[in-house]
Amino acid sequence: MAEHIQVTRALFDEVMVPNYAPAPIIPVRGQGSRVWDQAGREYVDFAGGIAVNALGHCHPALVSALKEQADKLWHLSNVMTNEPALRLAQKLVDSTFAEKVYFANSGAEANEAALKLARRWALDKFGSEKQQIISFGKSFHGRTFFTVTVGGQAAYSDGFGPKPGGIDHAEYNNLDSLKALMSDNTCAVILEPLQGEGGIIPGDAAFLQGVRDLCNQFNALMIYDEVQSGVGRTGKLYAYMHTNVVPDILTTAKSLGGGFPVGAMLTTTAIASHLKVGTHGSTYGGNPLACAVAEAALDTINQPEVLDGVLEREKLFRRELAAINEKHQVFSTVRGQGMLLGAVLNDQFKGRSRDFFLASADQGLFALVAGPDVIRFAPSLVIPEADIIEGMKRFEKAVAQVKQG
Ligand SMILES: *Cc1c(COP(=O)(O)O)cnc(C)c1O
Repeated sequence: MAEHIQVTRALFDEVMVPNYAPAPIIPVRGQGSRVWDQAGREYVDFAGGIAVNALGHCHPALVSALKEQADKLWHLSNVMTNEPALRLAQKLVDSTFAEKVYFANSGAEANEAALKLARRWALDKFGSEKQQIISFGKSFHGRTFFTVTVGGQAAYSDGFGPKPGGIDHAEYNNLDSLKALMSDNTCAVILEPLQGEGGIIPGDAAFLQGVRDLCNQFNALMIYDEVQSGVGRTGKLYAYMHTNVVPDILTTAKSLGGGFPVGAMLTTTAIASHLKVGTHGSTYGGNPLACAVAEAALDTINQPEVLDGVLEREKLFRRELAAINEKHQVFSTVRGQGMLLGAVLNDQFKGRSRDFFLASADQGLFALVAGPDVIRFAPSLVIPEADIIEGMKRFEKAVAQVKQG
């Protein structure tokens, strides 16, 4: 028997690698959009585990899918296929542009697969010159060395030795900056249709269409990273469905598992054919436990009432934030879509998003930041109206607390 371990926040600093700076409290239980910490204090959750807990905490459909699968079969490896993975793949194919699915365990892994597929596709079809990958400033695509180098913040990939090459960055929502980089050697352009980590920055319709046109002109693949914007977050199953722009490859994770780690890369049969047997893989990717939970999440979220409900909740969020701002004047604008919203701090409060995050936790609310100037909200897609109202009351107190200094 292990001796009794005193689990406190201080233990984090003793035993954990110091790459995170978690909040002072330790949550122990969640139900819907409420969470309780070790001291029994209750919080309203507007963070959703960073756009992951799309059905809140312990949603009955997810709990029952997990428990049912837990009694059947957890893991096989990809030496075998399994029923939940095949059902989930079929449903993703039925509800998107895609014809083929590759499963991973995270957003970064889904993007890693997408980028490797794009490189292999270009090599097979056009030769080794065609290897340029273009992404955008402020983009975020994960923390593997390839994906973090593709991401738009050099600071995140600096200091780890030689970086993967053939990667260039253009300016988001600036088509000319992309045009200036593109040529027949461009293999793929990767972007978030709505930038998340970079500050909740929506792609302009004309920009997104322009990216598609340039990709067509130069025979480059268009990769949509919908890891944060996907699975109902913006009020459609995927954000691309708000527009006429359809990518060649789409990556999805976060909300896909509703809290269970899973990711996927979606593409067409013609492109998928370039990841031949043995070219890529994962021990856990597509394991039955993850896919059973994701199937339940997808079934529950991909319903007109749930997707329309996201847009209703967005209206309420915006109304409440406008009322708070009228009283306290802290934001210059609120941007984003559905249950992925960013309140942009005005000049007076620029750079202080973490203060609002900490004050919110003090007041019993989980919020998020998206860079130093944006407070981000990514709650459950089915958060009850009463929880939104209560959370906003607490958020207003947090705003007042920051203003008082
Ligand atoms: C979170 C995120 C990722 C990385 O996902 P992980 O599961 O943390 O690897 C990639 N792209 C976008 C747009 C994200 O928001």
